[in-house]
Amino acid sequence: MTEMTVKDVWLARKRIQETLPRTPLLYSFPLSKQTGVPVYLKLEQMLATGSFKLRGASNMIAALSLDDQKQGVITFSTGNHGFAVAYAAARLGIRAVVCVSETVPSAKIKALQESGAELHVEGKSQDEAAEVCLRLQQEKGFTLIPPFDHPDIIAGQGTIALEVLEELPEVDTLLTGLSGGGLLSGIGLVLKETDPAIRIVGLSVEKGAAMDDSIQAGKPVDTPEHPTHADSLLGGIGKKNRYTLPLITRYVDERLRLSEESIARGMAFLYKHHRFIVEGAAAVGVSALLEGAVQPDGPTVVVATGNSIDVQDHNRAVSPYL
Ligand SMILES: *Cc1c(COP(=O)(O)O)cnc(C)c1O
Repeated sequence: MTEMTVKDVWLARKRIQETLPRTPLLYSFPLSKQTGVPVYLKLEQMLATGSFKLRGASNMIAALSLDDQKQGVITFSTGNHGFAVAYAAARLGIRAVVCVSETVPSAKIKALQESGAELHVEGKSQDEAAEVCLRLQQEKGFTLIPPFDHPDIIAGQGTIALEVLEELPEVDTLLTGLSGGGLLSGIGLVLKETDPAIRIVGLSVEKGAAMDDSIQAGKPVDTPEHPTHADSLLGGIGKKNRYTLPLITRYVDERLRLSEESIARGMAFLYKHHRFIVEGAAAVGVSALLEGAVQPDGPTVVVATGNSIDVQDHNRAVSPYL
């Protein structure tokens, strides 16, 4: 593994700070009361595309050479990463292509187009769309912007931790979602290289925890997946994973898997006490605190990662727990 350092994260911060505002670190009185320690919410859902993915995508695109920027960028994610690539490219006046399969709903296609992307619709599944994407990348000289397994993506996500340290250098525990691992690789690099005693907890879903399975197997493995409130936490880690598997193994102290009920309770708490509508993946840190699965000893940060959920799905998930 090529070594990344905290300097890479500072360089990322320099590249993205003009286009991305710092997100609020909100003291949560109800969560602090519940846990007995001060708890803060890092509100990544407030970024322009509604998730922290904009940090990594903005950093990687800004770091490309002018020639590569002129050729354009490509990705196959229809989730938060796809929107982040589209938006970050549009801000810089760069062409962005998102490859989607024929099965992607038209509402999603429309939303991606509105965020500035060119859509290439081909293939019968997400895997086929990914193959089409690699083919186009080679034929047309686009740069592929991967969702997590790249140093520039990891460094971009790590800027969250720089902001946390500036406002709360006494942070003791940080909890957030763990999927492909770009988010916690970047955060872990910054916090653990600053103070190895900071406790880092990565939260996955019982309905499919590819990173957790892969760490237990010592190599990337395929994990069966089922529908979940936290769909942004599904997806494999890539057979050729290079960066995030070793970084997560090194920097994340504890990994837990949450039930659907626990995730919905976390979402309901954030709605009831803070009036935040977030997707399940963004609530998992709150869920883990509420169920007592993690009992922090000091100032605690929950990174609320995104808000990509429609209002009916949110209502259905939270109403039993309000
Ligand atoms: C991508 C994503 C995550 C997980 O990030 P990884 O870098 O894949 O571990 C968590 N929450 C939301 C909302 C996301 O979009």
